[in-house]
Amino acid sequence: MSDAKPPHTTTDAGIAAPSDEHSLTVGPNGPTVLHDHYLAQKMQHFNRERVPERVVHAKGSGAHGFFEVTADVTQFTKASFLAEVGKRTPMFARFSTVAGEQGFPDTVRDPRGFALKFYTDEGNYDLVGNNTPVFFVRDASKFSDFIHSQKRLPDTGLRSNDMQWDFWTLSPESAHQVIILMSDHGIPRTLRNMNGYGSHTFSWINAAGQRFWVKYHFKTVQGPANFTDSEAAAMAAQDPDFHRRDLWDAIAAGDAPEWRLEMQIMPFEDAADYRFNSFDLTKVWPHGDYPPIEVGRMVLDRNPANFFAEVEQAGFSPANLVPGIGLSPDKMLMGRIFSYHDTHLHRIGPNYEQLPINAPKVEVHSYNKDASMTYHHAGSRPVYAPNSYGGPQADPERAADLGWQVPGGELGRYAYDKHAEDDDFGQAGTLYREVMDETDREHLVSNIVGHAGDHVSSDVQRRVVAYWTSVDAELGSRVAKGLGLEGSGNGVAPVDPGQGAAVEGAAEPARG
Ligand code: NDP
Repeated sequence: MSDAKPPHTTTDAGIAAPSDEHSLTVGPNGPTVLHDHYLAQKMQHFNRERVPERVVHAKGSGAHGFFEVTADVTQFTKASFLAEVGKRTPMFARFSTVAGEQGFPDTVRDPRGFALKFYTDEGNYDLVGNNTPVFFVRDASKFSDFIHSQKRLPDTGLRSNDMQWDFWTLSPESAHQVIILMSDHGIPRTLRNMNGYGSHTFSWINAAGQRFWVKYHFKTVQGPANFTDSEAAAMAAQDPDFHRRDLWDAIAAGDAPEWRLEMQIMPFEDAADYRFNSFDLTKVWPHGDYPPIEVGRMVLDRNPANFFAEVEQAGFSPANLVPGIGLSPDKMLMGRIFSYHDTHLHRIGPNYEQLPINAPKVEVHSYNKDASMTYHHAGSRPVYAPNSYGGPQADPERAADLGWQVPGGELGRYAYDKHAEDDDFGQAGTLYREVMDETDREHLVSNIVGHAGDHVSSDVQRRVVAYWTSVDAELGSRVAKGLGLEGSGNGVAPVDPGQGAAVEGAAEPARG
């Protein structure tokens, strides 16, 4: 509240508006006239207020902060923002749920997006991760099918557990991600209490051109904490925006959340004979094989000034890689390199990278030009390359960052080559047997039974039991018992553990 006289309302052209309350009419009870351009423009702009929501990760919350290097990693990467202990880089983070729409409750069972934009002195670096180290599928060709199965039925517009389990049980590579999703880690208590992962394998390249395969782990300094199913349901009813509010309130109160970046670093040559395929997004590298090393810390200490301009208009793309950081042959990552930029072109427009939240802090010298809502332009600078008028020239050194050798590389449609211990269920089984305690297992079973027991056809339920039996026989029998499918004669047999194996016999979906 302020005693100062407020400024005049204006049109968007800056002209003082005649009234905030009354449209232009013929007498007090007469018709409204079309030339009330102030009213017309107000309605026209309102009608266009929303940009399309993201097709995935629609509901998000974001904050600004910084990344600070705490350990010397110059032997692994030449990335400038990682070049010096103590160096700080401004950044923006957006956390999100995956399947729900804008108004969805925050405390649902769903992976969380963990998207980071580092405004580095070599251009923007985006790491577009999740709060889980793995993903449901390993090939981008299945991504839109997977997302469709998590969204809504075409006829009723309802979400369907049957559709979700149908897809998962016919896609055995999903088991590792689904066990995490169905565990207590599937509903973080707050956004501040969850870890973040780059999930994919990336490459780091040092100044000498030596290459390493790497995985990013952002460990919450607040400590991991989760909601049980019933706590989450109660919170969804009490405050559907609980995660957004909690993040905002903590930062506003000066309690800036922090994450410690730890990296797993694999010598380049190890990948060929490693016991797991290092590029398969459904696998982790066990910590015992590649112990994480500390690299830095991320602190989020500033709330957005405007939700739409920052959280909504933020566009992240895994293609934004700075010198010293490269891709890997991960097939999901390859698909995302195309897909993220493409969706922002559609959602926000061809010049979305000129918006303040997306604009790099370094000068842009691109030969892309014009298009809708262009704001920065190159003046009279040449618009083509090569040119003899002093236009920008590419840096051939960058070409070396982006490659690796592909042994036996003949064009075709392949499953990943199988390494010694690769199968679809092994790492999920390790999590169940070796990491979870008995309370975690009890919660896992009750979460699975609650979910798969709710509007899921009996044929799909039988496949659910087979799926979990393949992860662990005891887990399978606990799920069978919970679903009332224990005992012989129910047609339940473990799924073939072979990488890429599918379960036969799809059933008529139940609608729910
Ligand atoms: P470790 O014992 O070294 O680490 C186990 C990891 O599991 C910890 O980072 C812990 O993270 C995390 N964790 C515990 N409960 C769950 C859960 N319900 N969902 C997801 N993560 C959980 O084991 P290994 O590295 O040898 O891996 C064993 C298994 O642990 C893997 O098969 C994988 O399922 C899981 N895991 C492994 C990770 C990796 O990168 N190696 C990362 C995350 C999970 P915290 O206690 O901080 O939550």
